[in-house]
Amino acid sequence: MKSIQVTKSSMPYYEDYVNEIKELWENRWLTNMGIKHQRLEAELKNYLDISGLTLFVNGHIALETALQSFNLEGEVITTPFTFASTTQAIVRNGLTPVFCDVNPKDYTMDTMKIEELITERTAAILPVHVYGNLCNMEAIEKIAEKHNLKVIYDAAHAFGCKYKGRGVGTFGDASMFSFHATKVFNTIEGGAVTYRDPELKVRLEALKNFGMSSPEEVPYIGGNGKMNEFQAAMGLCNLRYIDGEIERRKKVVQRYQQNLMDLEGLDVWKEQREVKHNYAYFPVVFRNYGKSRDQVLGELKREGIFARKYFYPLTSEFSSYHDRFEPGDTPVAGDVAGSVLCLPLYGDLSLEDVDRICQIIKNQR
Ligand SMILES: *Cc1c(COP(=O)(O)O)cnc(C)c1O
Repeated sequence: MKSIQVTKSSMPYYEDYVNEIKELWENRWLTNMGIKHQRLEAELKNYLDISGLTLFVNGHIALETALQSFNLEGEVITTPFTFASTTQAIVRNGLTPVFCDVNPKDYTMDTMKIEELITERTAAILPVHVYGNLCNMEAIEKIAEKHNLKVIYDAAHAFGCKYKGRGVGTFGDASMFSFHATKVFNTIEGGAVTYRDPELKVRLEALKNFGMSSPEEVPYIGGNGKMNEFQAAMGLCNLRYIDGEIERRKKVVQRYQQNLMDLEGLDVWKEQREVKHNYAYFPVVFRNYGKSRDQVLGELKREGIFARKYFYPLTSEFSSYHDRFEPGDTPVAGDVAGSVLCLPLYGDLSLEDVDRICQIIKNQR
């Protein structure tokens, strides 16, 4: 029996990649902002419609460095319904995460619950465009302006998304994108920070290169976050096919929706208004469905289909934090984490396979 994973990394034609890296055997410039790195930065600025973009070796280091670049102290209001990276980036910067609940519609931060969490120690808001569902950026930025807070988005899931025709990376003070192998657009491992303030570029470029601004000038305490030329070459190739990949994902998502839309007790992912989506994930939430989420997960697995519990548990429950947080403070997020399943989704998942996955789910009622 053929198995189906939750995702499949998109790759260019083999010859395409080989062609792209050939140059590297001639110039022997393998990392440290070489020609591929420069080209990818320029092409991504264009594709994402943003004036400032700095590449990183991965999305997590991009997020940690973005946070570091603002010299924050104190508390950061964020969401526990996300991948480990978001919360770890806050804690590893010596900042305290303060968890805001999510809304039950698209699982992004509930903007009605942000202001009650603001104290004199609050320095920033770090919302997540979870599943490529865009946060209510207008509300978040209004609150941030009123209280003089920075807004840094975890846009790891939102590559290429637009709100009212505007690239999602142009919102807030900065956004982090992940180009990990499992994401819609990949550079094997990789990531970027986008921003509008040109001064941020100077700090981010130094911070990703050991804090150095020149060989003899080290004004910051930085690490090593540089993307190498092989990663950048993969990005240049994948970028040529990205629109087709997103188009094919859209067809898969529409097929899932047709199959599952009318099932009682099942919340199925829906498009948001005024948003251009990238179809990164297809989450379904089992509310009062015959079988539980875990039972359906097990049944799919028996058929060789590997769905994933994105995101379970809440990051506020991690043992690394030794009960510092109270997961009960975000009941909506807790409910979703306990009942959500992300179904397999990638551009060349066949519609017959989608039908088969949906039939198994229907049989669980
Ligand atoms: C993938 C991901 C990250 C981390 O990105 P990497 O490129 O894997 O380091 C951060 N946040 C979220 C929500 C993610 O899904």
